Amino acid sequence: MLKIYNTLDRRKEEFVPIHNDNTVYMYSCGPTVYSFAHIGNLRTYIFMDILRRVLKYDGYKIKGVMNITDVGHLLSDGDEGEDKMEKAAREQKKSPWEIAAFYSEVFFKDLKALNISKPEIIAKATEHIPEMIEFVKQLQEKGFAYEISDGIYYDIAKFPEYGKLSGQTLDEKEAGARVEENTEKHNPADFALWKKANPNHIMQWDSPWGKGFPGWHIECSAMSRKYLGDVFDIHTGGIDAVPVHHENEIAQNEALAGKKTVNYWIHGEFMMVDGGKMSKSLGNIYTIDDLNKKGYDALDFRFLCLNAIYRKKLNFTFEGMDNAKNSRNKIYNQLAQHKASNAKTNPAILEKYKTNFANAINDDLNIPYALGILFTMLKEPKSIDIYNLALEFDKIFGLDFDKYSVVKETKQETNDIEIPENIKDLIEQRKQAKQNKDYAKADEIRKQITELGYTIIDTKDGVKVQKIN
Ligand code: AMP
Ligand code: ZN
Repeated sequence: MLKIYNTLDRRKEEFVPIHNDNTVYMYSCGPTVYSFAHIGNLRTYIFMDILRRVLKYDGYKIKGVMNITDVGHLLSDGDEGEDKMEKAAREQKKSPWEIAAFYSEVFFKDLKALNISKPEIIAKATEHIPEMIEFVKQLQEKGFAYEISDGIYYDIAKFPEYGKLSGQTLDEKEAGARVEENTEKHNPADFALWKKANPNHIMQWDSPWGKGFPGWHIECSAMSRKYLGDVFDIHTGGIDAVPVHHENEIAQNEALAGKKTVNYWIHGEFMMVDGGKMSKSLGNIYTIDDLNKKGYDALDFRFLCLNAIYRKKLNFTFEGMDNAKNSRNKIYNQLAQHKASNAKTNPAILEKYKTNFANAINDDLNIPYALGILFTMLKEPKSIDIYNLALEFDKIFGLDFDKYSVVKETKQETNDIEIPENIKDLIEQRKQAKQNKDYAKADEIRKQITELGYTIIDTKDGVKVQKIN
């Protein structure tokens, strides 16, 4: 039985599905496809994937929906600023549709490389405009929305439970709101359901309120309702979505349904870099492609994420990536040795591992603990049974255990190249930096080494160097 932390109730709860046909109805906030997904975004989808895998391991089927936001996500959460899609289109001299097609393709390629299983239904915002208009119309008819000169807004004063997900009262929220630019709004925290478009906004559609485009929050509400109904089991997303986006989704859906619409709100914590936030200005935003160029596989990143509890912040460092890469190779080597063995393992021992593993994954997705069980198990005397059970565990880990079957000397364990002096110097400087615990500097030096065409891997016998081909 899965126990999972529900943001709404602020506690771990037993998961009980709504439908008795064993199908879990689940909505996951997807990407805004105006740019490459960075490793922080991808951590959130790895968390979603693990949750889906655990539900399947427990015997459930899943009806999962993920949105692709290709219109309406403005630069500021306060319904101001340019549409992110239109801005990217302008900057890259493409149409917003071309931008969306390009970045969606890259996104799905990243998911595939990370072994993230795609939700059953992928819903593009631009293909659900009629449903969004209908949703807004109904909100207006029920008295939850009002029209002003630049759009239709949600009247949060009409929804007394506003703030229940984040535990923020309306007063606190108003106090926190920026100086209001839009003075027509009844309340500073009211948010746009539909924005009236000015003529140079490329993406716009006819509506009862003239030409315009949907607000970002209504997209998820309209699409989750269309595919999953008024009330569904699980809604996932990154933790940053709690105070505004998900609060607004709740206000919209519950206004129409007249009752609680999502039973379990489950959020993944943030990924940090060098202990701080990721941001363009700090130059510390990485994509899977960046990691590949530095000599890492997407699955090294997946493995790194699996080593952290999804509800805890995870600090990304290249040291961490090296460790992930090395441990992953070690696992494959051990697996290959088990695979090559004809010996058997006592079924009672196997059963114990299986039970412990099931308990770990069902305890609020404790994947680090489950990995610990795997490591202990791999130390058992070599046996094909251990290999087969590891494959079973890999239904959760998604680390392609079945694809690595031969014992191989991993490349990074040999230093078979001539190392230039300047690289040697940098390696020495990096060693010093690490001894001084100056990890930012150590990472910076690693970057320089990569730029010079080499990757370095930390092993227990010191640094190994490879030339990037
Ligand atoms: P966006 O494409 O900006 O809408 O973000 C996609 C998803 O990534 C959302 O669920 C965000 O909550 C999540 N996200 C954004 N930044 C981070 C981060 N640093 N760590 C983890 N998740 C993040
Ligand atoms: Zn959403």
